[in-house]
Amino acid sequence: MNSFLSYEERAVIDQITRFSTDILAPRAAEIDAKAQFTTLHRPALAEMGIMGMNLPEAHGGIGLSGPALYEAVEAIAGACGSTASMLTAHFLATDSLLLGAEEALKARVLPGAATGDKLGAFGLTEPQAGSNPADMRSFAMREGTGYRLKGSKCFISNAGEADFIVIFAKTDRTAGARGISAFIVEPKRMGGIDIGKPEQTMGLRGGHVFPISFDCFVPEENRLGDEGTGFRTAMKVLDNGRIEVAAQATGIASEALKAAISYAKEREVGGRPIGNFQGLQWMLADCATELAAARALGLQAAAKRGSGERYSSESAYAKLYASEAAWRIADRALQIHGGYGYTKDFPLERYLRDLRIFRIYEGSSEIQRTIIARDLLK
Ligand SMILES: Cc1cc2nc3c(=O)[nH]c(=O)nc-3n(C[C@H](O)[C@H](O)[C@H](O)COP(=O)(O)OP(=O)(O)OC[C@H]3O[C@@H](n4cnc5c(N)ncnc54)[C@H](O)[C@@H]3O)c2cc1C
Repeated sequence: MNSFLSYEERAVIDQITRFSTDILAPRAAEIDAKAQFTTLHRPALAEMGIMGMNLPEAHGGIGLSGPALYEAVEAIAGACGSTASMLTAHFLATDSLLLGAEEALKARVLPGAATGDKLGAFGLTEPQAGSNPADMRSFAMREGTGYRLKGSKCFISNAGEADFIVIFAKTDRTAGARGISAFIVEPKRMGGIDIGKPEQTMGLRGGHVFPISFDCFVPEENRLGDEGTGFRTAMKVLDNGRIEVAAQATGIASEALKAAISYAKEREVGGRPIGNFQGLQWMLADCATELAAARALGLQAAAKRGSGERYSSESAYAKLYASEAAWRIADRALQIHGGYGYTKDFPLERYLRDLRIFRIYEGSSEIQRTIIARDLLK
């Protein structure tokens, strides 16, 4: 399904796909085994303009359309899920600025983020507030020319090497979600920000996540937009982020399916290729159908990105369906590999481990259903 892209964008995606296959894919298994942080690929990604591919040219990016961005993330995730997770966490941070900050702050941070000189992180989740971020306890109190920001966050991707982290905190504890504001903290330049050890995760082991605690001064010019607009910004950012999660899911599922097809043609049991068995043919057919459906939903949501229309439901359909279908596809692909699929000689077990988080982060499958139902019942 390539009809959304212009000739020029198709050329960019072809280039990113070649780069992903030649540079990212060969190191993916080693990165997973060593749980090596994928910022090691940052210079190469930066060179290709990939660190800023979600940003318009006016802010130093390459300004890909929604569908082109979807295909680019898909290609990168198919080659190395961990690299895609580092990259998309950076996009959550830069998107927060793009959608929520005033021009001066955008001009200060985005060009360096677009070139990859500065790495971003997105700090919304707290130990007691994941699915319902409005329950957050972090708060920011006026102090002199800025704020005293106090609290903690958990599972923050990229935080260990981040140059800037978007932190959401309450500026009015009595106003619920409307009392949440967003700020930039710069851990390499500011005191009072403590970043813990990376979590030991099941998958995406090269995309590190960290707990953070802070008691720091933040100047007023580091606030994104007006006080009280942080939650709205976070929700808009997640509408985009969920499309990127869908793209990561279909990217990995597509590789799992390719592996299953070639294995089904090569592996012989009882003197004939296992692809001759109708049971496995039907599994492959179900995988291909679900993959096509997931991509169609992802591209539909991506086409609405930046349109000015609301696309929360489309983005939730895309994430919900792609993350769950990708899991089924990779599971069947592993089954088709028999015992070998369960070993580290093949990438299937890594695909499954990497895919599992897509049903949890940026709003679990249950939360996506809640978003969809809320729109239906409005
Ligand atoms: C690898 C990884 C990377 C991450 N990166 C980031 C990041 O960069 N920035 C960031 O801010 N966060 C990040 N997160 C956090 C992630 O977004 C949260 O873990 C996720 O939103 C779920 O929150 P929770 O873990 O607190 O689960 P909980 O909210 O405690 O949910 C527990 C269970 O209850 C279910 N549940 C909760 N509410 C409802 C409801 N209303 N109806 C039905 N079921 C419900 C959930 O679906 C889930 O199954 C990351 C997490 C991981 C593991």
